[in-house]
This record gives sequence, structure tokens and C-alpha cells, in this order.
Amino acid sequence: MNGMPAPQPRPWLAAAPGYRSGSTTATPEGRLASNESPAAPAWVARAAPDLADLDVHRYPDARVEDLRSAIAGAAGVDPAEVVVGNGSDELIHLLVQAYAAYTGGIVTATPGYALYPLCARRLGATVTEVPLTGWRHDLDAMAEVPADLAFVANPHNPTGTVVDPDALARFAARAAARAVVVDEAYVDFTTGPRLDTVALAVREPRVVVVRTFSKAHALAGLRVGYLIAHRDIAAQIERLRLPFSVSAPAQRLGVLALAHAAETAERVREIVTTRERLVTVLRSAGLEVVDSQSNFVLVLTPDSERLLTRLAEAGIAARPGRDLGVPDAVRITVPSPVGLERLAAAL
Ligand code: PMP
Repeated sequence: MNGMPAPQPRPWLAAAPGYRSGSTTATPEGRLASNESPAAPAWVARAAPDLADLDVHRYPDARVEDLRSAIAGAAGVDPAEVVVGNGSDELIHLLVQAYAAYTGGIVTATPGYALYPLCARRLGATVTEVPLTGWRHDLDAMAEVPADLAFVANPHNPTGTVVDPDALARFAARAAARAVVVDEAYVDFTTGPRLDTVALAVREPRVVVVRTFSKAHALAGLRVGYLIAHRDIAAQIERLRLPFSVSAPAQRLGVLALAHAAETAERVREIVTTRERLVTVLRSAGLEVVDSQSNFVLVLTPDSERLLTRLAEAGIAARPGRDLGVPDAVRITVPSPVGLERLAAAL
């Protein structure tokens, strides 16, 4: 086939950066680059018998009925108001595809979660990035931007900050964007007052809540995320989703995860406690740390390369701020208690 033409990437693909994931070259306790849980849920080791009758020669339930019902039950909504996806990343992609692609645009904060602009640019939507102020969303400035979708990660990534619940309610009601996506990937790690975004989302077609099993449930490898929305919006996204995007093991284990709510709550408590200890360790080492309501913290330091090297020497991989649009910073996932000791020793 010599001389035959090769496929030519569309111009946006030739120019587009791919998604860059965090480093995995570290000791197990030192893998602190991707905001994962430090350990798998204990119940997973006992789940093999529950998977024995998974008819893996069949396609999984296309409508994800059991898991969707379990999620709806836990959230106090109707299953028709829930869409389950292959991680919340799939749902973010589908939201952009459904409401902003080709002719539209999104508004998002910068620095922010890389996937929002990435999906938008891939799908030919314009991106307006509004700088954070004091490491928080500038919701007033974002509200002025006409767009099809506004993305608000709450807590935010990479800062771990949260927006004021009243300010978020005002934003949801008044933002110039047609719809507001509240990405609550890290919401379980917050300790302050929250806006009832779920009640808002099922009532108001312009508000969509996105959540994941990757963080508090400690199941990032399973790839399960979901959105809660007005049933018309949920039906539109469900129509767009690729058939069978949520695998049979993911559906089965997702249901089991919700049946282990007490273990999840205990894990979240431990992560929140360790977060406070991590902040103390870092601040005692003279480092500036952004107040976080999440399972990671952002360390601000002009010497980020030195910090990264010192951590790497101790078998710890954190996320360089330069990958996240904050060059003078390092993002560190909350480790296990053992990982925290190692980190403290490294500093
Ligand atoms: N939203 C935010 C803000 C995130 O940080 C992440 C994960 N890094 C996700 C969504 C995606 O999570 P998942 O696809 O694993 O559900």
C-alpha cells in the first residue's frame, strides 16, 4: 500500500493536546497525582461471589436500570432524572456534545478542570475562560458571559475551593449561560453548608449536577459517573450516550458501593481528617496552602520543581502545577496516614 494516502486528522486534532493524566510512577502510598482514594474499598475484596453470575457473554443492561435506581434512591430523585456514564468524564463530553458543540460555547474558570475546554475544543465549541479570583470562581464575571454551558466545579479542581451556596444559587438563576453544570466530583469531602443542587437540578432544566464514584466511593478504576437533571435533559443525554458505555461489572459493583454507605462515610471522615493533618504538615514546613474542601490540596510555591523533586526522591508523585495551569504550585492528593508520615519525613 506504499504511496497510498494516510488519513488526515481534522485541523483541531492536529493542534489539540490530549488529556494528560497524573504520574503513576511512585510507591503505592505515594501515588498522589490524580485525586484518587488512597485504598480500595474493603468490601471489593469480598465481592467476587456477587460477580459470579455476571453474564459477561451478554451485553450489559443498556438502560443501567439497577444502578440508576440505586443512585436515584440514594439521591431522593426519580430514576428518569439520572443518567449513568463511563465516568463523569463521559457525561461532561455528552453535555458539551448535546448543548454546545459546533455552533456554541462554554464558559469555565481558569485554572480549572482540563476536560471542559478539551471537550469543547474537540467538539468545535468556543471556550471562554474566566480567571479565578483569590483561587475561587469569579461567579459575577462568569455570569456575564453568554454561553451554552457554564461549568462550575464545586469543590474546584485544582484549588479545592468551594463557592458560597447563595452565590451559586444566584448564579444558577441569573447567569447569561443557557445552562449551568455543577460538577460535584468532590462534594462529599466538603464540611460547610451546601446548596441543595439536586433539588434545583430536577426542578430547573438549566441546572445539571454531575457526580462520580471515583472519589468518595474510591472506585476510579470502575469508571462510573452520573448526572442528575430535569427529566427532559436526562432523556436527551441518555439518547446521546453510546449504547453499553457502562460495563456489566461497573453496574453491579456500583450498586454494591451504594449498599456500603457506612464504609464510604468512614473513608470520607478519614480523608477529611488526614487533609487537615496534611495542611498542618505543609504549613509547618513553611509552604502556603490554599484552603481545601476536597481530597487534595494546592501548595503555592515558587520552588515547585524543588518540592516535586524532594517528593519524588521519597517515592511520592504529586501533580506539577505547570500541568494544571498554575506553574508555581503543586497539587497533592490527600494520602493514607502512612503516606502522610512519609510525606512529612520528606519535607
Ligand atoms: N470532574 C472533576 C472536577 C474532576 O477532577 C474529575 C477527575 N479528575 C472528574 C470530573 C472526572 O471523574 P471521573 O471521570 O473519574 O468520574
